[in-house]
Amino acid sequence: MSDTIFGKIIRREIPADIVYEDDDLIAFKDISPQAPVHVLFVPKATIATLNDLTPGHAELVGKLFLAAAKYAKAQGFADDGYRCVINCNRHGGQTVFQLHLHLLGGAPLHGFG
Ligand code: AMP
Repeated sequence: MSDTIFGKIIRREIPADIVYEDDDLIAFKDISPQAPVHVLFVPKATIATLNDLTPGHAELVGKLFLAAAKYAKAQGFADDGYRCVINCNRHGGQTVFQLHLHLLGGAPLHGFG
């Protein structure tokens, strides 16, 4: 488990608004939301960046996206649409070095693409 702020959330050392958890993943609301819905899906395994993924992580990465889509469906905004983002390193704007997927939705999203 990573020694980042997300590791501390996983270990319950600091609070977070957790919306989903299983053996492999945790999901919680972003502290500084960039959309009406902004949830972070985080693998519990220590993986700093996308660059650190190996073929052995393929199932885990699939679970990450499936959990995000399931959450969007459960919250009722899947058909309207949403965005999943994984930032990588400095140019990607990554600030927490534990792999995480941003799920953004709940309104039309602008400023990308
Ligand atoms: P990134 O820039 O892709 O590394 O994203 C890191 C995200 O973590 C940012 O959107 C932050 O707002 C969010 N964040 C940082 N600290 C916390 C925290 N304690 N609880 C929830 N979200 C956080």
